[in-house]
Amino acid sequence: MRGAIHAPMEVGLGGSSRNPEVLPEFWFNIKPFLPKPLPPMIKPDGTPVKPEELEVLFAKELVRQEFSDATTIKIPEEVREAYVEIGRPTPLMRARRLEKYLGTPARIYFKYEGITPTGSHKVNTALAQAYYNAIEGTERIVTETGAGQWGSALSLAGAFFGLKVRVYMVRVSYKQKPYRRTLMQVYGAEVVPSPSNLTEFGRKLLKEDPNHPGSLGIAISEAIEDVVTHEATKYCLGSVLNHVLLHQTVIGLEAKKQLEAIGEYPDVVVGCVGGGSNYAGLSYPFVADKLRGKAKTRFMAAEPKACPTLTRGVYEYDFGDTAGMTPLIKMFTLGHKYYVPPIHAGGLRYHGDAPTLSLLKAEGIIEAVAYKQTEVFEAGTLFAKLEGIVPAPESAHAVKAVIDEALKAKKEGEPRVILFNLSGHGLLDLAGYEEYLAGKLQDYEPAEIKPQLPKPGT
Ligand SMILES: *Cc1c(COP(=O)(O)O)cnc(C)c1O
Repeated sequence: MRGAIHAPMEVGLGGSSRNPEVLPEFWFNIKPFLPKPLPPMIKPDGTPVKPEELEVLFAKELVRQEFSDATTIKIPEEVREAYVEIGRPTPLMRARRLEKYLGTPARIYFKYEGITPTGSHKVNTALAQAYYNAIEGTERIVTETGAGQWGSALSLAGAFFGLKVRVYMVRVSYKQKPYRRTLMQVYGAEVVPSPSNLTEFGRKLLKEDPNHPGSLGIAISEAIEDVVTHEATKYCLGSVLNHVLLHQTVIGLEAKKQLEAIGEYPDVVVGCVGGGSNYAGLSYPFVADKLRGKAKTRFMAAEPKACPTLTRGVYEYDFGDTAGMTPLIKMFTLGHKYYVPPIHAGGLRYHGDAPTLSLLKAEGIIEAVAYKQTEVFEAGTLFAKLEGIVPAPESAHAVKAVIDEALKAKKEGEPRVILFNLSGHGLLDLAGYEEYLAGKLQDYEPAEIKPQLPKPGT
């Protein structure tokens, strides 16, 4: 009996950690628990953005959630059903072989978000966003994607709720990640390489350079221009905004119940940060416990040295996109014109971070660490050999941080409970692993970073 060897069996892919009762009925909002009020989203003239002004871009209910101060928000039954259809609750697993290999007294648990059909956590918010748009009469939703994780999640969600989907995909990824592009097309979405000739901004960039590689910031600008120039069309964003992080809290809420069932509570919560949604999703229910003085958990966010927003960025107001079409948000940023080197963790190539996560970092509640991509792929490869799951390059950043935490626990002789988010699998990112194994992976670490920032109100 495996149970005899691997107890507790509640934890694992087939085990009872996936009891349907674990799926929450409410999303969790961190805003009312923050140690300081969240600085408002503002316009370039310095005045706060009004909710009505965002309704041009987003579904009304999503805007309401963006500004909400309620501690919880009910998950519509249709969205809960869709969550079950894509495999929620996701399993809580224990990385026993990794523990043993490291010789650590730490117990390492992880939420495995890679079991969803698109292979990552992104579908948790994609389904909610598509649902609200569908019931509000939106016919077409538009977004951008880098590596394609978000684009494929939204394409699936659009297919579930009967919406047309257009995805502006960063041109280099469009060429280098044909499988993600095909996945979106399989779900029925229209995928356009960005910069494209479908928007004024795209045409301008293509005129300057017909082979422009594109960037996430540019694709956001094009998607927004598309939305404001088309009827019955709304924009969807895969990270950063409050409502996106809110939807992702299903991860942490499930994890909390799953840990409770086996009498555990995390001493350290680890995750990778691109815009911050998967990490916020896992950590916020635990962060709130810490802010209320109920726990002493440490929070560790891992990011790439090539795009070190939390470790080397500034906490200032900045645009969310490259063209400067979005409102300004106060966040850790490298500047909206920052050139992000072409690392394989496409989902971590964003110049800023979610406003709530940024505030928590500024207040010292959350710590951050940055890694080079070779050490990240080394950690990902080790994890795959020991645990069987090939982590997405993004998630491998979290794995690297977990290994460091587990070794620290070993050195200090502390049997800590480490919880992390394995935000996605890397089976569509094997090109990165191939380069790593061939010894061809390049590391990028900018010597100096001078963020170019807007000056609100001038
Ligand atoms: C998009 C993505 C990320 C980074 O985005 P966050 O908003 O920071 O979560 C991390 N992991 C995977 C697998 C992703 O697809």
